[in-house]
Order: sequence, then C-alpha cells, then structure tokens
Amino acid sequence: MKVVVLGGGFGGVSAASELSELRNRSKDICITMIDRKTRLEYLAAHPEILSGKVTPDEISGDLNKFAAKIGAEFINDTVVNIDFKAKKVKTENGGKEILYDYLVISIGAEQTFFGIPGAEELSHSVNTLKGAVETKNALDKLDFSAKEIHIAVIGAGLTGVEVAGELIDYLRYKEASAKIYIVEMMPRVLPTFSTEKVSNYVAKFLSDRGIEILTETAVQEVSEHEITFKNGKKHPYDIIIWTAGIKPNSLLENLEVPKMKGWLKTDPYLRVEGMENVFAVGDTISFESEGVRSGQNAEEAERQGEVAVENIIKTIKNLSFKKKALPKKYYSLYGMKEEKLKRYRPKNTIQNPRAFISLGSNKAVMYFRGMAIKVLAYRLKKFVERRYMKRFK
Ligand SMILES: Cc1cc2nc3c(=O)[nH]c(=O)nc-3n(C[C@H](O)[C@H](O)[C@H](O)COP(=O)(O)OP(=O)(O)OC[C@H]3O[C@@H](n4cnc5c(N)ncnc54)[C@H](O)[C@@H]3O)c2cc1C
Repeated sequence: MKVVVLGGGFGGVSAASELSELRNRSKDICITMIDRKTRLEYLAAHPEILSGKVTPDEISGDLNKFAAKIGAEFINDTVVNIDFKAKKVKTENGGKEILYDYLVISIGAEQTFFGIPGAEELSHSVNTLKGAVETKNALDKLDFSAKEIHIAVIGAGLTGVEVAGELIDYLRYKEASAKIYIVEMMPRVLPTFSTEKVSNYVAKFLSDRGIEILTETAVQEVSEHEITFKNGKKHPYDIIIWTAGIKPNSLLENLEVPKMKGWLKTDPYLRVEGMENVFAVGDTISFESEGVRSGQNAEEAERQGEVAVENIIKTIKNLSFKKKALPKKYYSLYGMKEEKLKRYRPKNTIQNPRAFISLGSNKAVMYFRGMAIKVLAYRLKKFVERRYMKRFK
C-alpha cells in the first residue's frame, strides 16, 4: 500500500510522521514524500532572519534525513500534474511518474502581489527561506550613514508586524537609524484578529519604537524608489518588504478538482471532494465545517495532516498490523469496533484565531481566546519552535 505525500511543509511532515507511526507496526505501508525543496522551512521564524537572531540552518530541517529517520522515501522534485484516474503523480525532472494508492496533497500556498504594477519586481519577501536571506542581504547592502533610509513593510498582518519588530532590532544591533513604515489596507494592524485589544497593543508597541503605521492605505503602484497609494499620496523607499496576501498554489490551476476561489475543496474528512483516496491538508485547502472556517496556519496544517492519515488508515482494508501497541484511535483495525471516518474540527479558526506574535526586543504576545497574554510569550514561542525543529536533528 503506497501513500504519497506531496509537500514537506507543516501538513506534509505531520502526515508523514503519523504514517510512520503505523508503518512501524505494518510492513504493508510504503511512504513517499515529494517536495521541490530539500528542507522544511519553519516560516514563523523567518522574520528573525532579518535581525540575525536565527540562522537558516536552525530554522529549517533536512527532509532527506527526516524521511530516512521515519522510514520513508524522499523525492526532491516539483510536481507538475496528477492523473487521479491512473493514480499517478507527474514530476518535472525527467518527467517521472510516481504511482500511489493514497495521496495527501499538502503543497501550501503562494505569495500574491495582487497584480499591483511593480510590486513583485521591486519588493523583497520573507515567505521563503531563500527570500528571507536575500532580504537580509539587501538590508546589509544599504548605506545607512549616507542618507536617511526608508524601509516599507507592506501588510500589517502577523508577518508584517513581526518583520517590523525585527527591523527595530536589526537597526539597534547595527547602531543605525532609518525610517520604517508599515502599510495596511484595513483600519487596524492585525485586522484578522477578532478583538481590537491586541491590534491596539501591537500598534502602540511599534509606534513607541518609531515605526509609522499607515492604516486604511492601499498600494496602487510601485516604481523605482517610490510607492503610490490609492489615496494619491506617495512615499519614498529604499527597500520594500512585502508581507501581504497569499494565493492558491499554481499547481491547482492544472488540476481538475473541486475548488473554492482557487483553493482545493475537501469534504469534512479531508478527502478532496468526490475522491475516496485523495486527501488534502494545510494552506492548500479552504476548509469549512458547520460554519467554522479553518485558518491557514501551522497548527491547522499539522492537525489536518494527522486526521487525514487517521482517515486513510481507516479506509485501507486488509492491512496486516502487528497486534501490539497500536494507538487507541486505530483499534477498529482489529475489528474491535466499527469506526467511522473522523470529521475534522478546526481549532485555530478564521472566527477565533490564536497565535504567538513576536515583536522584536525578545517580546511577544500570545493571542488566545480574545486575550493578549504577554508574560513569557516570547520564551514559549521559542520553546515551541525548538521542540518542533528537534524532529530534524
Ligand atoms: C513568513 C510567514 C510567517 C508565518 N508565521 C506563522 C506563525 O507565526 N504561526 C502560524 O501558525 N503560521 C504561520 N505562518 C503560516 C504557516 O507557516 C502555514 O500555514 C503553514 O506552513 C502551512 O503548512 P503547509 O504544509 O500547508 O504548507 P507549507 O509549509 O508552505 O509547505 C508546502 C510545501 O509544499 C512544497 N511544494 C509546493 N508546491 C510544490 C510542487 N508543485 N511540487 C513539490 N513541492 C511543492 C513547498 O516547497 C513546501 O515545502 C506563516 C507563514 C509565513 C509565510
């Protein structure tokens, strides 16, 4: 029984880890992971690349090593198509075709510049590790002593405010000064968080440290050294760090699968709608159940990866498991109890999001159930990061 996992990000690694738990108990499961990159990227720590608090090696994990550790095969290649009828995944290099019995699609999302003229060509980004390192190199090349440098951060969501916080530290470590401004189309920073309390706290934290916050300001056009806003105003810049917006993975455009505004649609059990043997998790999907929408975040991707595998295992018939020490949720495989597939229930949702928001200066806020908790939040965030990265050591 061959299970192929597309994508070695949070969802893919979680699904593969869960599968390996079962593989240890049944020789009948073969796991293959495919990713176009060779390393998992811990995206939440990318802003800290800018201040130099973390190194690329510390916040990324070797997928080859990880696969070997869990007894999986790893293929470093780009998926270009999937033939759902023939159960085949097609990859770019040498046009390889990889057969599967069960498929988990976890290919994440892509950054979008909303088609704004000049934005993609002239901006830097931290959405990939390579992009974060290039942004740091571009900052290092600026001559802060020659003139006043203007740094524009576009988007005041989670990543935007974290980037702004790390820029303050960057300047402090460099003993330099610059004008930093953060641009947000909506009326407040962190607009997707349900209460204004956390937005107000973060806005004050950043503006007390000299950051200019431009809310209700949308970018219309980017040209060399100048951003034009929809309200007609213009701002100079020496570097732009674009953090606003994600869009569906472009591979989905080639696939004949049910979609919702371009995002993959699944049923409540995380199967791609209408398919018995194809599951999808993480940022690549739009998941809604009983009026609650899953957020596109690491926690949801990980939990979805686990539930998708639980449902794959419950779907597979005739697996010969060794009878000892199977996790409780798989008891039905011994015929002890007939179990239905598990419905996925989002926890970190659009309606009720939760997150660690780091703000530089070794400070963070934990946003949970509408509360903004500051005590020990940064330490806890780093603890979660280190614990996660341990699986790649
Ligand atoms: C800068 C940044 C900061 C963030 N901070 C936080 C945070 O603090 N907390 C939080 O919860 N979430 C955060 N997120 C969101 C979180 O990282 C994502 O929700 C999470 O990574 C989603 O996991 P995933 O497995 O769906 O996708 P990803 O982790 O993006 O993994 C997708 C994988 O698929 C691979 N892939 C894509 N297309 C192909 C293809 N065609 N062929 C082969 N491989 C392919 C990619 O290389 C990648 O490895 C942040 C995101 C960014 C960009």
